[in-house]
Amino acid sequence: MTYRILNYRLTGASWSLQFSEAALHTLLEHVQHSLSSKESVGQLFARDLSVNPIVVEVATVLTPTRAARARVTFDTHRAIAERDALFRRGLHCIGLWHTHPETSPTPSTDDRILAREHALAARPQLAGLMFAIVGTIPPPVGVRVWVDDGIEFREALAWNDSDRK
Ligand SMILES: [Zn+2]
Repeated sequence: MTYRILNYRLTGASWSLQFSEAALHTLLEHVQHSLSSKESVGQLFARDLSVNPIVVEVATVLTPTRAARARVTFDTHRAIAERDALFRRGLHCIGLWHTHPETSPTPSTDDRILAREHALAARPQLAGLMFAIVGTIPPPVGVRVWVDDGIEFREALAWNDSDRK
């Protein structure tokens, strides 16, 4: 399956974020299509943080410790173990993703708190934590991305890069 290349960029930023097809596929496999579906959660990994765009090469799926229709939690120790394992393959954790049972997802207060905690924990290796939420309609509207730099939680807006190779 092919998708358009999607970039997400903070207003005024000189760099952008891009999902690989594989990573985007993982996210879209977990869209909450039905009312009985549960939220999914995982981590986002990039190989090189010095390139532009920064490409999310791998999106993982964490086993939720508790998942409901509109709330998900995960085991921090498992998340750290996963980061260590992928780091040995040259992949850096740059963020988190989870699903929401709404068309164009908006972060809850808990989501913002989670993003801030992870942004602060990832310092100074990571200037900003990528926080993606997957809604029920196709990207770009259905997949929204925020970046938390420990001070601000800002949305990175999608733009289509299909003109470039
Ligand atoms: Zn959420």
